[in-house]
Amino acid sequence: MRESGRRPNSPPASADVKDHFVKDYFVHESSFVDDGAVIGKGTKIWHFCHVMSGAQIGENCTLGQNVFVARNVKIGNNVKIQNNVSVYEGVIIEDDVFCGPSMVFTNVKTPRSAFPRNTRDDYAVTLVKRGASIGANATVVCGVTIGEWAFVAAGAVVTKDVPPYALVAGVPGRIIGWACECGIPLKFEGDTAVCRECGREYEKRECENRGEQCDLGNPEAPCDLRNLCNPYNPFNFAIVRKTASGRRGR
Ligand SMILES: [Zn+2]
Repeated sequence: MRESGRRPNSPPASADVKDHFVKDYFVHESSFVDDGAVIGKGTKIWHFCHVMSGAQIGENCTLGQNVFVARNVKIGNNVKIQNNVSVYEGVIIEDDVFCGPSMVFTNVKTPRSAFPRNTRDDYAVTLVKRGASIGANATVVCGVTIGEWAFVAAGAVVTKDVPPYALVAGVPGRIIGWACECGIPLKFEGDTAVCRECGREYEKRECENRGEQCDLGNPEAPCDLRNLCNPYNPFNFAIVRKTASGRRGR
């Protein structure tokens, strides 16, 4: 029995055991959720959406109007996807990510109508890491990783990996600053910044490998910035969060 259009407050259509689980999330009656899609507790799927088979959506997510989630897409918990967003196969969205209205993902680097590239092997993986925000009408070209708590400004076109906490704007997107986990831009005084809104503290970590072969991204590399930076960062530093003990943390 298809699950599309069922609402958690509707009386069960049958004694099917699946009805007990359907009550854990909300799907507006104008939307389609294909058999085989997995949707977490507390998630709300609003008008005119389509979630395909094999898609996994976590708990407490919101999908606004006209959102499409392709086959095999993975979306974490507490993700907010605003109106008119298509999440194509190859996209992975971690917890707490915000996708602004009408932002665009792609999944093929060289699309040609006459030379179809529409198998799983053709899709470049795009990873949006925990806490990142993507502004309205931004475009994320496939194959990039957007780091934890990074902030992509409205209308930006992201063509390269984005380090954690980076604020990226423009076409093509460039790092123009840094953002707090709460979303407020950070102002550094020397090597440290304190968020004016929430008081979270950050510090710069200088890269010792700049100008030489950059080992960033290599999990075996000796550089301790490897999870914080990437070869496209134009600065010679990355940002880490300070805790009371001075160590990285949440
Ligand atoms: Zn803050």
